Amino acid sequence: MFSRVEQESNNAQCQKCLEKGHWTYQCTRKRKYVERPSRTQLLEKRIKQLQKNQEDEEKNAKEIKKKFEILLFAR
Ligand SMILES: [Zn+2]
Repeated sequence: MFSRVEQESNNAQCQKCLEKGHWTYQCTRKRKYVERPSRTQLLEKRIKQLQKNQEDEEKNAKEIKKKFEILLFAR
C-alpha cells in the first residue's frame, strides 16, 4: 500500500527538469533549460506599451482639440 506522500509524488511534476513523478526538491537531475523572456525584455515591452498608450492619448487629445476648434468656428 502506498503512503500518502508516495501517492502525491506520483502525480507530482518537477519544476526543475519538468519530469513527472517527483517534486523539485527531490530532483537529482540537471535543470532543463527553459527559455523565458528576461526581466529586461519584459520591462522593454512594458515601456513600449506605455509609450504607445501615450501616443494614442496625444492623438486623441489632438482630435478633441480639432473638434473643439471646429465647434468654435461654427459659432
Ligand atoms: Zn526533476
